[in-house]
Amino acid sequence: MARRFKAPRGTFDILPDQATGRGRIERAAARILSRAGYRSIATPAFEDTDLFIRGVGKSTDIVQKEMFTFSDKGDRSLTLRPEGTAPICRAYVEHGMHKWPQPVKLSYVGPFFRHERPQAGRYRQFHQIGIEAIGSESPLADAEAIIVLSELLNELGVAGLTLRLGSLGSAASRQDYLDQLSRYLTRNEDRLGEAVRRRFRLNPLRAFDAKDEQTREVMRDAPAPVETLVGEDALHFEEVKDLLGAAGISYVVDRTLVRGLDYYARTIFSFECEALGAQSEVGGGGRYDGLIEQLGGPPTPAVGWAVGIERILLALDGEVPEREHRPIIFIAYDQDAPFAVKEQMVSMLNRLRLGGVDAEADLKGRGLKSQLKHANRIGASHVLLLADRSAELKDMETGDQRPVDPWEVVQSFIGDAA
Ligand code: AMP
Repeated sequence: MARRFKAPRGTFDILPDQATGRGRIERAAARILSRAGYRSIATPAFEDTDLFIRGVGKSTDIVQKEMFTFSDKGDRSLTLRPEGTAPICRAYVEHGMHKWPQPVKLSYVGPFFRHERPQAGRYRQFHQIGIEAIGSESPLADAEAIIVLSELLNELGVAGLTLRLGSLGSAASRQDYLDQLSRYLTRNEDRLGEAVRRRFRLNPLRAFDAKDEQTREVMRDAPAPVETLVGEDALHFEEVKDLLGAAGISYVVDRTLVRGLDYYARTIFSFECEALGAQSEVGGGGRYDGLIEQLGGPPTPAVGWAVGIERILLALDGEVPEREHRPIIFIAYDQDAPFAVKEQMVSMLNRLRLGGVDAEADLKGRGLKSQLKHANRIGASHVLLLADRSAELKDMETGDQRPVDPWEVVQSFIGDAA
C-alpha cells in the first residue's frame, strides 16, 4: 500500500470547522485595530537569516536553537520567520517609512515558525496577530498598544487574564544595570542552576526566566530592572502606568518580567491566562527603541506586541463567540418546479452575494425537506423557499414562516448588509 503522510511534527491542519473560530478572531482584530488606526502589512514567510541574528539577538533561544534555516539554490542563507517585528522593521527601513507621518502604525497576521519541542500551546508553525507603532517615544504609544490588545482579548471573551508589566530601562542605562546584574550573578554563581550558569554571561537577564528553584531563590534578591529605573526611564514607566490606570486597565508590576528577544528596551508586558498551564502567555510585547537603527535605519523608537491565535483558542476552549450576526440566506426550491425557478434562484444568489450577503443553495438535487435540514446544519439564519410563482421566508431562529415577494426580500437583505 502507498505510504500515507501526516502533517509534520509540531504542525496541524486547520479544517473548515476550526477555520470559523479563527476567522472570528482575525475579524475582531481587524475591526479593533483598524478603528485605532493600525493598517495592515504583510511580509514574506522567509527572510535573510542575518536579519534575525541581528534583530532578535544571538543570545536568544530563537536564534540559538529554534530557527528553520536553509540555503537557497544561490547559497543564500534564509530563515522561516520566527517572529514579525524584525521583518517589519526591515520593511520600514527598506521602504523609507520614516518619511511617512509618524508613528507608522501597522498590524499583521500570519504563520510563524520555531523549532520548539511541541506541546499544548507550543507548535513549530503557529499563528500570530501583532501590531507595531514605529516612530514615537511617547508613553501614549505604549499605553495605546496595551489598551488595544486588552480590548481584543476582552471582546473575544478571554477570561482569567493578568497583565504583567515591567520596564528594562533604555539601552543607554541598561549597560550599567546589566553590569550590576552580571556582578551579582557571578558572586552567586555556585548557587545558580546549571543551565543558567552556562549562559548567564551571554544574557544575564534571562536568569529571571529560570524555572529551577535554586536559581529562583538567587533571583529573589537580584537587582531587578524595574527597581533600578532612574530619570527619563522612571518617568516614562510612571506615565505608561498612569495612562493604563486612566483607561481602567489593571496590571501588576512584575519585577521578574523579561522577554525572550533581545531587542526590548523600556516597557515590556505580557498577558497571561491562568487556565493555560505551562504556556500561560497569550500575548506580549514591548518597546524596542534601538532595533530600527540596528537594522540600518535612522534612530527610531517603537513599540509593539504579538498574540498567539492558538493560545487564544486554547483559552477559549475552541469556542470563539460570534459578535457579528451576519445573516446567511439559504435559497431552497422545489426540484419539481419548472426550470425557470432554478434560474430565478441562481440570479437571486448572485444578487445577494454581489450585495455583500452570504447566500447558499442546494447543489445536489435534494428534496425540500432535506434542503431545510441542510440549511440548518450550515447555520443559515433565513431560508427563502421558492416555488412556481410563490415564495415564503422562514426565520430559522424563531421558526416563523410567511409568504413574501422574493425580490423584495433579496433587496432588504442587501440593504441591511450595506
Ligand atoms: P513572542 O514572539 O515570543 O513574544 O511570542 C508572542 C506570542 O506568540 C506568545 O505570547 C504566544 O501566544 C505566541 N507563541 C510564541 N511561540 C509560540 C509557539 N511555539 N507556539 C504557539 N504560540 C506561540
